[in-house]
Amino acid sequence: MGLSKTIWNEPAELLRSQQPDNPAMFFAPQVLQATARRFLKGFPGLVTYAVKSNPDEMVIQNLLAAGIKGFDVASPAEIDMVRRLAPTAMLHYNNPVRSRSEVQHAVRAGVKSWSVDSRSELAKLIELVPAEGCEISVRYKLPVSGAAYNFGAKFGATVELAAELLATVAQAGFIPSLTFHPGTQCTDPMAWDSYIRAGAEICRLAGVKAVRLNVGGGFPSHRVTDVVPELEAIFALIDRVATEAFGADRPALVCEPGRGLVAEAFTLATRIKAIRDGQHVFINDGVYGGLTELPMVGNITRVEAISSEGLRRSGAPVPRVVFGPTCDSVDRLPGELELPGDIEEGDYLVFHGMGAYSMATNTRFNGFGEMTVSTTMSLAL
Ligand SMILES: *Cc1c(COP(=O)(O)O)cnc(C)c1O
Repeated sequence: MGLSKTIWNEPAELLRSQQPDNPAMFFAPQVLQATARRFLKGFPGLVTYAVKSNPDEMVIQNLLAAGIKGFDVASPAEIDMVRRLAPTAMLHYNNPVRSRSEVQHAVRAGVKSWSVDSRSELAKLIELVPAEGCEISVRYKLPVSGAAYNFGAKFGATVELAAELLATVAQAGFIPSLTFHPGTQCTDPMAWDSYIRAGAEICRLAGVKAVRLNVGGGFPSHRVTDVVPELEAIFALIDRVATEAFGADRPALVCEPGRGLVAEAFTLATRIKAIRDGQHVFINDGVYGGLTELPMVGNITRVEAISSEGLRRSGAPVPRVVFGPTCDSVDRLPGELELPGDIEEGDYLVFHGMGAYSMATNTRFNGFGEMTVSTTMSLAL
């Protein structure tokens, strides 16, 4: 991935003057900082950033500049990267399964907050991590849906096991806390309602007062044209339900959005390579590149088309099958995408809200995937 140092006014300015043939990602620091301030102002607790959603150093630096002080990290490489950019940032190592050498690496890096969802991994932490001033958050799961895909399929203890683990954490002298993740792109706020109430139940079963409750990531981004997520309504629900469920024992709240913080700050311009016999649209990026998660999470329908001269296409929408550039038949966007009827070969298809799980998961499969990242003042075409 190449980084261009020029700062453009808007994506169309670069597209017109350079006519890039490779996928062109655009980053607007102002949008990222505005989103960070929205979380900092609205969320009733500590806001941390889930680094995996977009570990670009410009992202970390702009989040720090906006006032984000904590990071959810999942690996020694993420720990070292954040430590280098922010030596005093709080690191929450919330990947609940780690090798012994990974645990030791994190102890040396000064990690003071860990998550856990099993007896075996808790025993490992108790053995390797000094308890003094150190938090262990028990990660629990519920059979609730509302998200684009279910994170509980991999991580999280049942309510009963979580209560047992929370009691063990407290007995071992660690700061006892709870954590959950409702699933990414969670558009049903009632998922947080169920999870927070279950957290209070776990504390009752364990006879332990949780010091903090981390309500996860999962905050939705704006992917579909007419469905604009209402973050403030989710924040208000979390605040109200935490008080209702825990009363006087309400723990301090933490959140760790990835997508909700970073998605809106990036726009991806792909180029139409061909419209095969006037039907299928082939673009220069696909599911092995910046569009990896579309088959799992669904299409981003905030798509605009412009010609290489910067002329906006505005023909009546036509549903199109869109294929990526590789020779693999899974390299296609799900279903069909409504695109202006007057698009032509050489035009740019511009996807908004592309900051999460796009650059981080881009591959060079089949020789494609060379992506540039440019800074813009605004992301409006
Ligand atoms: C991936 C992840 C997140 C971020 O999830 P989003 O849906 O992108 O907000 C937060 N916490 C943990 C533990 C994660 O694994």
